[in-house]
Amino acid sequence: MVVGAGLGAVRLAENLRTNGHEEPITLIGAEPYAPYDRPPLSKTVLLGKEDRVELKPAEFYTESSITLRLGQRVTAVDPRAATVTVHGPGTDDIESVPYDDLVLATGLAPRAFPGAEHLAGVHTLRTFDDAVALRSDIDGAQTAVVIGAGFIGCEVAASLTERGVRVSLVEPAPTPLAQALGEPIGTLVARMHTANGVDVRAGIGVSEIVGDDSGAVRAVRLADGAELPADIVVVGIGSIPVTDYLEGSGIGFAPRETGGGIACDGVGKTSAPHVYAIGDVANWADGSPAARRVEHWNHTVEQAAVVAHQIAGGEGALITAAVPYFWSDQFTVKIQALGHPRADDDVHIVSDDGTKFLAYYSRDGILTGVVGAGKAGPVMKTRPKLATPTPVADLL
Ligand SMILES: Cc1cc2nc3c(=O)[nH]c(=O)nc-3n(C[C@H](O)[C@H](O)[C@H](O)COP(=O)(O)OP(=O)(O)OC[C@H]3O[C@@H](n4cnc5c(N)ncnc54)[C@H](O)[C@@H]3O)c2cc1C
Repeated sequence: MVVGAGLGAVRLAENLRTNGHEEPITLIGAEPYAPYDRPPLSKTVLLGKEDRVELKPAEFYTESSITLRLGQRVTAVDPRAATVTVHGPGTDDIESVPYDDLVLATGLAPRAFPGAEHLAGVHTLRTFDDAVALRSDIDGAQTAVVIGAGFIGCEVAASLTERGVRVSLVEPAPTPLAQALGEPIGTLVARMHTANGVDVRAGIGVSEIVGDDSGAVRAVRLADGAELPADIVVVGIGSIPVTDYLEGSGIGFAPRETGGGIACDGVGKTSAPHVYAIGDVANWADGSPAARRVEHWNHTVEQAAVVAHQIAGGEGALITAAVPYFWSDQFTVKIQALGHPRADDDVHIVSDDGTKFLAYYSRDGILTGVVGAGKAGPVMKTRPKLATPTPVADLL
């Protein structure tokens, strides 16, 4: 049984079946939709180019004997009784459902901007419904402020700009993506947004989202008192692992300084027997002193394969790839990263033509990652070098 019916859940179910697992599989999902893909939400869905983002066609679930319980929320887990409590779809429907193995794949909830939740025109972006609500506000909007220049904030700023809205991108760090990729690459990303018409306001925070008398957003006030007009505000200030249903279950959480979320060993086992966690909500210890919680698509897919292998009784240990990968699409550029690039690594920009760039990351002289924009070939070629300790000097 899987709690959550998103990317991790569907990949887990698929892997179980390909591994020959014949037991019943049930995915319980709080949203009313069959499992769908989130990366298009900030890109093609906002641009109005795509609406069908299901991960699998309906026949996949019937042909693979996978039961979807959609619009139903798990509100409690009892590892001693090996049951979950499921609420819905009706308000009075409450059921205790037994499991043999349980996989927790409940993802994240976006952080709200305190005090602005009630204002019309203020959005966060995690779900299909969020994307549709934001998209329907774009028509008729002239100005938007995106608060937070992480990956989702940068992608939304790009998509709104492409839809003809004048966008300000506000970020308290010195550059966009500074926390994920460091300031040297953040500077190049800021340059790309500025060149495409985004008003990038880095190094300054937001003090207030200002509403008008009708209860709609009017402006965003910055820490220096400046007001940016806003018909739309998108809040992209991070997300919180969805773990409320585990209160009282005894299942352990990872410390906040390691990213929080559900604490797991290196192959996804939680502190409770037969209970695993995967995807954005899971914090897998990878052998380094800090456990790691990663919010990327490929990571989720790999974790689903590792956990399915165990549940299906596969032989030998399957572990996640030594070279993680993620991407982000902004304007016409695909930013791709391999390895473990960190904001505090040494960054070596080896090519930059004003739009496309390539950079190596190193720590103590050893290559840790590569980040490229519009550089798929050179990024992918670095994969073997990242699989073994390689002096960065060999590549420069
Ligand atoms: C807008 C957006 C753009 C992205 N773009 C990229 C990208 O370009 N590149 C990249 O690498 N990654 C990207 N990602 C990240 C990627 O989509 C996630 O890493 C991936 O979706 C994680 O899958 P998951 O299964 O852990 O969680 P999710 O896909 O979030 O699925 C979790 C599901 O669990 C459900 N749920 C929660 N609590 C309960 C409960 N108590 N009971 C039942 N169901 C519950 C939720 O409703 C949700 O449907 C993006 C994410 C977003 C939101």
